[in-house]
Amino acid sequence: MSVQGKSKHRPNKASAPQSANKSANKSAKQSAKQSAKKSAKKSAKKSRPKSKLSKARSRTAGSSRAATHFPKRHEVLFKPERKAYVRRVQSKEAVEACVFCAALASGPSFESLLVYRNEHAMVVLNKFPYNNGHVLILPTRHVGDLLQLTEAESHAIQALLTKSVAALKDMYTPSGFNIGINLGAAAGAGIPQHLHWHVVPRWSGDTNFFPLIGGTKVVVETLELTYQRLLPYFSA
Ligand SMILES: [Zn+2]
Repeated sequence: MSVQGKSKHRPNKASAPQSANKSANKSAKQSAKQSAKKSAKKSAKKSRPKSKLSKARSRTAGSSRAATHFPKRHEVLFKPERKAYVRRVQSKEAVEACVFCAALASGPSFESLLVYRNEHAMVVLNKFPYNNGHVLILPTRHVGDLLQLTEAESHAIQALLTKSVAALKDMYTPSGFNIGINLGAAAGAGIPQHLHWHVVPRWSGDTNFFPLIGGTKVVVETLELTYQRLLPYFSA
């Protein structure tokens, strides 16, 4: 038993140091390879020039062939005095393209949907109403930034919001109102360049799936009739 045991254990004893030697050899070879790679990289880095252009190319390496032509050379003519002119043209174009400013310029009528205006604020019917009597309150000035409103404009807008609610309450006896502003295109403003507050009368159960399924909102009163009914409240 003891001999057999010894004979059994011999190959094991012998194999253990062999495997240890093998693994040692392997690790030695690997470390040698790694050190060789590192030294190769170092030498490669040393040989390469470290220009800004090469760094930019390496950042965009493989992304496009255009990177090899970077930077693209072209002539530049600086004309800072044209900045004021361009801004003036842009602001004029913006006002001319604005439907609210166009309504203000043409004056109160059903065609313009402008119901009322004073020095700082105005009331316009929403051409695409969410509900009967949906009106918009705006500053008369073409401005899209709430923080740029003057105190006089803010007061005039608030006064017209209150007056609109009073008029719509009397006209339609709604159960409630949604009053608010979508500030910026990301917030859902259709015309973010010109601030406008929505005043939407609400009735209990006035929502259904029709707009969702049919993409159409049913408004029972025509815009023309709403305009005619609303006008006396602001002309008085
Ligand atoms: Zn405008």
